[in-house]
Amino acid sequence: MVQPKLIIHGGAGSSLKGKGGIEGLRQTLYGILDDAYSLLRAGKCAKDAVVRGCQLLENEPRFNAGTGSVLQSDGQVRMSASLMDGTSQQFSGVINVSRVKNPIELVDYLQQERDRILSDYGAAELARELQCPIADPITDNRLEEWLQDRQDNFRRGMANVIAEPVEDDNAGRGTIGVVALDAEGRLAAGTSTGGKGFERIGRVSDSAMPAGNYATRLAAVSCTGIGEDIIDECLAAKIVIRVSDGMSLQAAMEKSFAEATENQRDLGAIALDAQGHIAWGKTSDVVLAAYTDGDRHGDSLEAEPGTQVQAI
Ligand code: ASP
Repeated sequence: MVQPKLIIHGGAGSSLKGKGGIEGLRQTLYGILDDAYSLLRAGKCAKDAVVRGCQLLENEPRFNAGTGSVLQSDGQVRMSASLMDGTSQQFSGVINVSRVKNPIELVDYLQQERDRILSDYGAAELARELQCPIADPITDNRLEEWLQDRQDNFRRGMANVIAEPVEDDNAGRGTIGVVALDAEGRLAAGTSTGGKGFERIGRVSDSAMPAGNYATRLAAVSCTGIGEDIIDECLAAKIVIRVSDGMSLQAAMEKSFAEATENQRDLGAIALDAQGHIAWGKTSDVVLAAYTDGDRHGDSLEAEPGTQVQAI
């Protein structure tokens, strides 16, 4: 038996301006950690804890996944999510699905299917088959943000997918991810997003690709940040493969983040290995990561801006 570990993220990006809202954000992340960790404590597998953590993060409107997802250029929400079970080494995903509450639930179902990655129309068909209730993930804040940017002719390249000024209640919105190690030493990773915001119709996020979410028996990683940067680095798969080839998780993270910095990427990642090491890394100002071993919590919320990797 091993001591279960859990790490989650709520996005990465520009600085959390001011400190006022950090504590609220921390409590939100710790509450979700505790809920998902209780499954690991009860002997559930890593994949189940990942799905639970992703559901809770998708339901939290301050994050850019599920409810609270950013709007694309045409004012619609299209969400992408994926899940990888390190034990079976099977990846499943949905790309640009609309009108469902929890994309991660579709992805969980797809784990046992022969066709494991579905895009927009196919994902909608699956949601209908599974009788998922129709849900509207658009929040007032996201709509207002889109209307404002439409007035400005979408001059900002992307929405506030990441850390907002924390004076208001919208602090720390971003793509979400969960990585778990269960009591039997099994690993899993899940990631869910509304995308970058204001993107072209049909743009595909890294969050439903092995570049953004990857796991084997040895390590598991979930990424956040600019999807194109994550894809160009093939970040999640690269870190996991480095561990499979014998590097420590810390060394794999440090090398991968040094390369990403060299290539001027804007991204972050969370990771676990089979020995129970916990790690997060970023090239962006902040990554909103929080983790627990069941006894203690930790987080990256007040880390210095710029490239940083921490392995515990
Ligand atoms: N990686 C996501 C995307 O580009 C965005 C994010 O992580 O916030 O779709």
